[in-house]
Amino acid sequence: MAVNLLDFDASSLADYFAGLDEKPFRARQVLRWMHRFGQSDFDAMTDIAKSLREKLRVHAEIRPPAVVSDKFSDDGTRKFLFDVGGGNAVETVFIPEDDRGTLCVSTQAGCALDCAFCSTGKQGFNRNLTVAEIIGQLWQANRLLGDASTDERIISNVVLMGMGEPLANFENTVTALRLMLDDNAYGLSRRRVTVSTSGLVPAMDRLREECPVALAVSLHAPDDALRDELVPINRKYPLHELMAACRCYLEKAPRDFVTFEYVMLDGVNDSEAHARRLTDLVRNVPCKFNLIPFNPFPGSPFRRSPSPRIRRFAEILMGEGIVTTTRKTRGEDIDAACGQLAGQINDKTRRNGRPVISIQKVRSQ
Ligand code: SAH
Ligand code: SF4
Repeated sequence: MAVNLLDFDASSLADYFAGLDEKPFRARQVLRWMHRFGQSDFDAMTDIAKSLREKLRVHAEIRPPAVVSDKFSDDGTRKFLFDVGGGNAVETVFIPEDDRGTLCVSTQAGCALDCAFCSTGKQGFNRNLTVAEIIGQLWQANRLLGDASTDERIISNVVLMGMGEPLANFENTVTALRLMLDDNAYGLSRRRVTVSTSGLVPAMDRLREECPVALAVSLHAPDDALRDELVPINRKYPLHELMAACRCYLEKAPRDFVTFEYVMLDGVNDSEAHARRLTDLVRNVPCKFNLIPFNPFPGSPFRRSPSPRIRRFAEILMGEGIVTTTRKTRGEDIDAACGQLAGQINDKTRRNGRPVISIQKVRSQ
């Protein structure tokens, strides 16, 4: 079977070329053609010797995941659905803003971590995406957004906040990150690439050493009892370990703060007392907060906190000097908002028929 060159970062592509008896600079040229210029046809790579193009045509291919659908929201958000085989699809969302264009990329088909309020988690875990499938979302989005051949990039930022837990697919995620940062590929600065994690502590430590980019951590609760329910991985890596990992991460991070994401669930984690406990929890971690109004999806037992409560929550955090933003819900009309990504029409949940979480239990804590 042909080797998919989208699976390689610069150094593994150079190794592959060495195996073909080709010089490293040839690998760099091909990398540029693929990622800077969005080229998938070896014959169009005009400065590559014909003999090498011939070799590549026989042994290799440049194959991104196929686009299944491409939807436009009224607010400019655009959602791409990609076929990743075996009946699985993943979603990628482009969010244009005045000063930037952000691409929200998926790293797994489904997710095993089973957070109570997340539609991706509800679908269960299918599999890790390959490097070609992760970077292929950026490759395709660049092409579909129409700027693959110019130096002016519509996509200025990438956030790994789509489907899946990036740090549970560590190797492939890091290889894709290297391509995002590589000047011969996408050339994004480390500050403009953000990994969002639900808190896989050992993998956060590895990321800090191997490829430190901006970090967002899905916090969602100020204490272990509530977080154990909402983000079950907390039972393995409780808050004191998570806070320590955040502090360590900042020693190598390209930004001097961690972003804490906090989904606002009506009557569950959104009281003034929760906000105050949160300020105590993060006292020693330089951070910003991003409050995410809960996005409902079919069958979810939660409701979005009312706006005045979200405002009050933000005021308390800001009163303690913590920069706090509330995420504008984007793309809701095309189910592209945070937590609404499901990637397929069929609900594969293992939990059909039984409640995901007892709201009563959570509320009484
Ligand atoms: N697995 C990673 C990244 C993907 S989820 C993580 O959990 O961080 C991206 C963000 O969307 C996370 O902060 C997640 O908690 C949040 N999210 C999930 N479901 C949501 C929903 N229904 N409404 C609002 N935000 C949600
Ligand atoms: Fe997985 Fe993130 Fe959803 Fe939790 S919130 S189930 S970690 S994708």
